[in-house]
Amino acid sequence: MNRFEKYNTQLVQKIGAKEGPISPSITHSASFGYGSCETAEGIFDGSVKKPLYARVGNPTSAQLESVLAQMEGGVGSVATASGMAASALAVMSIVSAGDEVISIGGLFGGSYSLFNETLRRFGVQSHFFAVDDLDAIEAAINDHTKLIFLESVGNPNLQLPDIAAIGAIARKQGVALAVDNTVTPLCVRPLELGADIVIYSTTKLITGNASALGGAAIYRAINESEDKFKTERYQDLHPFMEKMGATALIGVAKKRAMRDLGMSPDAFGSYLTLLGLETLGLRMERIAQSVERVAAALHHTGLHVSHPSLLHHPHHERYKTLFEGGCGPLLTIDCADKSEAFRLLNRLKLTTITANIGDSRTLALHMASTIYRDFDAPTRAFLGITPGLIRVSIGLESPQDIIDDFVQAAT
Ligand SMILES: *Cc1c(COP(=O)(O)O)cnc(C)c1O
Repeated sequence: MNRFEKYNTQLVQKIGAKEGPISPSITHSASFGYGSCETAEGIFDGSVKKPLYARVGNPTSAQLESVLAQMEGGVGSVATASGMAASALAVMSIVSAGDEVISIGGLFGGSYSLFNETLRRFGVQSHFFAVDDLDAIEAAINDHTKLIFLESVGNPNLQLPDIAAIGAIARKQGVALAVDNTVTPLCVRPLELGADIVIYSTTKLITGNASALGGAAIYRAINESEDKFKTERYQDLHPFMEKMGATALIGVAKKRAMRDLGMSPDAFGSYLTLLGLETLGLRMERIAQSVERVAAALHHTGLHVSHPSLLHHPHHERYKTLFEGGCGPLLTIDCADKSEAFRLLNRLKLTTITANIGDSRTLALHMASTIYRDFDAPTRAFLGITPGLIRVSIGLESPQDIIDDFVQAAT
């Protein structure tokens, strides 16, 4: 799993300073003195690079943004107060009433309701597709389509998209592609697969220990020559391109979402997120190995386990060829019904029952009675939420201890 080694070096080196305090500085100030009117004017017109006001940027969060941009190979990034804030920022800075969004995969609950309920109230229509509906996805694109949104791994249905194939459709049709990579940081590199925007809930694996809620959207550079964002479809973004060139999408996100909607991160949260990032590569490698081991062992005991590393999973081949670094910490166990799922969960001793994922600790939750309780039967069926479905997020414990915990709970 050498793919993680480069990040073990890059992340610790980029986060720690060589001179002065090694640990990132926490600048806990909502506003900043400008010193003079001329400097104030320069800060507001962008010619002076100093903090303006914490809603639109904070030095600690700026360090986090620069690390995340380098990690993803982007031109810049915008840190946000939560993962949902990052999705809202990425989407709402690009779409307007009358536009359409194509949403692919077994979506995270909050993302599904953002598209299906909230954006709909503002006149933005979303169309939902399963990961392999490539022909239908391409056919659904029209002049109003502004964004294709997908999750690198369906949470919790564990469907694996062929991101490069969807990226090729987005490129051919000239539509922006945003990938929610929350579950697979370092494993999947969306910008190299044709995405324009990478979205994270940093609350999960990036921080890794439930200490801070946060998110980020990372953007690619606008090309000097031809670029999908320079076409008629994205006409209303053109003023940003004239002013900011390659970094125009950062301006779009900051001015059209962060400034006006205010989903800004807090300096202390960004500090904790930076600390988590230092060990991300080590943790992802450990988790990728453990989740396969736990899935295989529990499958062997007769539990209905779903994970792409298992031979019977419909995307097993794709897992082996396109997800060499693994597909994150999730597996699911499908119990016969809700009461059997509750029985198993309540008998677990090591595993924590919670809605979070990507923590140092192993976590589990019954889906239908919690995150998906507000969803009707057809929506649950589309998202793969069966009555007895348990989602498990594998942590850093000894995989044998995790296996033993589930085995004792199931017997
Ligand atoms: C948790 C999660 C989110 C939302 O993140 P928050 O930080 O809880 O707002 C978005 N997408 C995925 C895939 C998630 O798991």
